[in-house]
Amino acid sequence: MATPIFSLEVFPPRRNAPVGTIYDTLDGLRGLRPAFISVTYGTGRSKDRTATARIAHTIRAEYGIPAVAHLTARYLDRAAVDEALDLFEQAKVAGVLALRGDAIEGQEPAGDFEHASDLAAYIRARRPDLKLYGACYPEKHPEAADLAEDIGNLRRKVDAGVSHLISQLFYDDADFMAFLGQARAAGIDVPIEAGIMPVVNAKSVRTMSARCGSRIPAPVQAMLERWGDDAASLREAGVIYASQQIADLVAQGVDGIHLYTMNHPAVARDIWRNVAPLFN
Ligand code: FAD
Repeated sequence: MATPIFSLEVFPPRRNAPVGTIYDTLDGLRGLRPAFISVTYGTGRSKDRTATARIAHTIRAEYGIPAVAHLTARYLDRAAVDEALDLFEQAKVAGVLALRGDAIEGQEPAGDFEHASDLAAYIRARRPDLKLYGACYPEKHPEAADLAEDIGNLRRKVDAGVSHLISQLFYDDADFMAFLGQARAAGIDVPIEAGIMPVVNAKSVRTMSARCGSRIPAPVQAMLERWGDDAASLREAGVIYASQQIADLVAQGVDGIHLYTMNHPAVARDIWRNVAPLFN
């Protein structure tokens, strides 16, 4: 069985955050051995359009780790995508995660791309050599009627040129394995990394799960009830839960694990300490 991939995700600091915070995050991730670190992209007109490329450049040039730049197309026209691609090229990214993104309240979507697959096809035509990543949803995307429909659309994304998929967070490995089986049966044969988001903060778990349509299974519910007001204990339980999820998924032969660090490097480090031997 091939060694699974291990990758990380960080996000650009908020605009009013001190400039050094991303360095604190990246310094804190030293010692982990990710195949790449991906950098999220802010959807919406008011966002700083250069942040993702700048951080991707830093990750590659200063930390020696390949960087993958996310790009959300919901509010971008072709010219804006071209600009982003130029910046990513200058940053020498290892690939682009082509996303549709979400609508923002009060901002009408105004871009040229309806679905991530449209963006992927556009990038594929402009930059045939650029590796394209895409998002997938083990519990289906909230807007899809059912998993079969969502997987049908995922197939279009792969047909448009996406050659590596990264999943949305999920807390029950059985959901991911069932999705994986259906995706393979639908002819999707590219690597699919399982997205793991550690339980660190009760409020953010509930908010994120509601937003992503991810189920909170009984063991996680029990953790939130027991340690919801005890941040240190919840964090410890969250590290153990995420480590167990990763060990279980790797044992079942998944292609890789994408750890959502949420810019909490200490949590990522603690998890890595538990699971590093699985990626040797
Ligand atoms: P799509 O693949 O376009 O899918 C969206 C919906 O449209 C689905 O219901 C799908 O079934 C349907 N659909 C797709 N193609 C078609 C078609 N051809 N015809 C009809 N229906 C179709 N958000 C950010 O703002 N910034 C980020 O950096 C970011 N990074 C992410 C990273 C990962 C790994 C994941 C899983 C999500 C990320 N998101 C990010 C969130 C993402 O933008 C949202 O989940 C968004 O709602 C969907 O984006 P998508 O690229 O999956 O869309």
